[in-house]
Amino acid sequence: MFDKILIANRGEIALRVIRAAREMGIATVAVHSTADSDAMHVRMADESVCIGPPPSPQSYLSVPAIISACEITGAQAIHPGYGFLSENAEFVQIVEDHGITFIGPTAEHIRVMGDKITAKDTMKQLGVPCVPGSDGGVPDLATAKKIGEEFGYPVIIKATAGGGGRGMKVAQSADEMESAFMTARAEGKAAFGNDEVYIEKYLTTPRHIEIQVFGDGKGKAVHLGERDCSLQRRHQKVFEEAPGPCITPEERAKIGKICADAVAKINYIGAGTIEFLYENGEFYFIEMNTRLQVEHPVTEGIFGVDLVREQILVAAGEPMSFGQDDLEINGHAIEVRINAEKLPNFSPCPGKITAYHAPGGLGVRMDSALYDGYSIPPYYDSLIAKLIVQGRDREEALARLNRALGELIVDGIDTTVPLFHALLQEPDIHSGDYNIHWLEQWLAANMAQ
Ligand code: ADP
Repeated sequence: MFDKILIANRGEIALRVIRAAREMGIATVAVHSTADSDAMHVRMADESVCIGPPPSPQSYLSVPAIISACEITGAQAIHPGYGFLSENAEFVQIVEDHGITFIGPTAEHIRVMGDKITAKDTMKQLGVPCVPGSDGGVPDLATAKKIGEEFGYPVIIKATAGGGGRGMKVAQSADEMESAFMTARAEGKAAFGNDEVYIEKYLTTPRHIEIQVFGDGKGKAVHLGERDCSLQRRHQKVFEEAPGPCITPEERAKIGKICADAVAKINYIGAGTIEFLYENGEFYFIEMNTRLQVEHPVTEGIFGVDLVREQILVAAGEPMSFGQDDLEINGHAIEVRINAEKLPNFSPCPGKITAYHAPGGLGVRMDSALYDGYSIPPYYDSLIAKLIVQGRDREEALARLNRALGELIVDGIDTTVPLFHALLQEPDIHSGDYNIHWLEQWLAANMAQ
């Protein structure tokens, strides 16, 4: 096992990794920009290294600075968290070339899944159901129009290098194809330096259901059921739960096995998430994330496992601590993402926290790097806390969420907490009756933006 690991991240996820490492008796190194000298992850780690000025490209994304920090401190492995360098295959290669272990999948798996066309091809070959669409890249408008006719409108044109909801355009009819095709290509080129696009049938009222998988890199893999992340604003998740309110045990077992078998076949190592759109009882693969996800705590809650500990174990060459038969669902868990943003426009709202009190009690987990008097810097993601609640069933989890949100105090800045108070008043949230468009429609009707 490692003696010391470095965490190439900040905020709540850096704390999350430090906590797992500490329970395993592993020392931790935090890295930070000059804007984060007072940040909680720096205070909580055993050691810290300043790696550059506030802008991420010069600090949290600076590969030479992170490698140097490892060498100076003698850290044997790097945990990337999510975001930043977590899905950067080149970074993984450089880390490994320096004799440091990357706590995550291989560079090759990250590369394959990072390109949406190769990811989809690979998944199709592994027997995972995909959204009907073009066979790989679509070279020109004439081919795009032919595909539109063949599959029937609406269709969605997606940049193969896209991410974070960028590089995607819907064409409702043949008339809209030219502009959608050109825009998706231009966005792909501008944001990701790659203008290759592909086309999928546009599903009109799907839910977003994702399957958590975990592999040991030696051909063994399990699934940890699904998360429903359908409540999204601008393709960004805001409320996640497990198990999915509409998924039956039979459906879970079937799609879960398909996913676990697929990643076992490629000797996948560590945590991964296979994302699907789900409509009329069918699953359609959209992408795979080769890292720990923001919403992983809901899965940890219902299965009672520590996914970060498990990532560290398999990265050190040790066997996984559980097999498929050990994994049983216990209750229901919900996570809400609390951002430093001002409603109704969700505009970023960094600043000084003048008072902070975290909720507690039975079934409440608060993953946050906030503290009294902390100043949230303006340079990074606006996520400041994840409130995760668990109950014996969905209704109890919702009641607990309401109770915990009521206890939370974050003064000095605006947050998205009022959004969750309002959502908890909605019958559709209580019945679990929502799809990926529900939140946008609700916001349009209830929060004049
Ligand atoms: P990104 O990598 O940018 O997050 P994804 O492929 O994961 O892109 O898609 C993000 C979101 O876009 C999905 O959660 C869904 O809301 C929507 N979306 C993607 N593909 C389709 C599709 N074929 N039909 C309908 N909606 C889609």
